Amino acid sequence: MNRRDAIKLMAVGAVSIGAIAERSDAQAPSSSTPAPSAPAGPFVLPALGYAFDALEPAIDAATMQVHHDKHHAAYVANLNKAVAGRKELEGWTLEQLLRDLAKVPEDVRGAVRNHGGGHHNHSLFWNSLRKGGSSRPGGALGGAIDGAFGSFDQFQAKFDAAATSVFGSGWAWLVSDARGGVRVLTTPNQDSPLTTGDVPLLGLDVWEHAYYLKYQNRRAEYVTAFRGIVDWDVVTARHAAVAKG
Ligand code: MN
Repeated sequence: MNRRDAIKLMAVGAVSIGAIAERSDAQAPSSSTPAPSAPAGPFVLPALGYAFDALEPAIDAATMQVHHDKHHAAYVANLNKAVAGRKELEGWTLEQLLRDLAKVPEDVRGAVRNHGGGHHNHSLFWNSLRKGGSSRPGGALGGAIDGAFGSFDQFQAKFDAAATSVFGSGWAWLVSDARGGVRVLTTPNQDSPLTTGDVPLLGLDVWEHAYYLKYQNRRAEYVTAFRGIVDWDVVTARHAAVAKG
């Protein structure tokens, strides 16, 4: 190899290392800086509101970090891409998009369903959890749960059974109808209960990305651990807002 070839090879090497570094920067979404390739809005990844390790040992810090900063960030970025330049969707809130999914143009409806659902589901999920949880639902929600399931314990058994029964990826939900009546249901993938006219009060993400690092195939252990980190004060307030109309 002569000197000129050697210099050329070094230059090529430098360029490709630079390109890889640049690309991996661009593909690393964080809570504050969206990927430059994606539109910056109108939808924004919400801050978690607590430390990645706040929910230990029920949910480990490594899972929380990748789940929020990578998975949830990707739903937001892809939702922004789906609505970019669509005049007919300008000003629509996330809730409107999911409630009126049938009115979303067909060519982006699937993307809005998956990524809009992903954004809404995860935003609600983070906000329903806190370190150490809180004991039990109060207010009208406590009464609605007793009325629908017999007791809080019977509700928990039903919710856990729903969460462990989801085949593949999806969510278990406690939802409310417009009058405050509650029930448990599951949705596949990132489908939102809003699309079928229900109001999600509490959701449990049972995609493998939500628990696999710590629990591997033991989903039932993750579902049981979830009981200890639910912020029932927030869920109760959510229900009160629905019933108020
Ligand atoms: Mn998830």
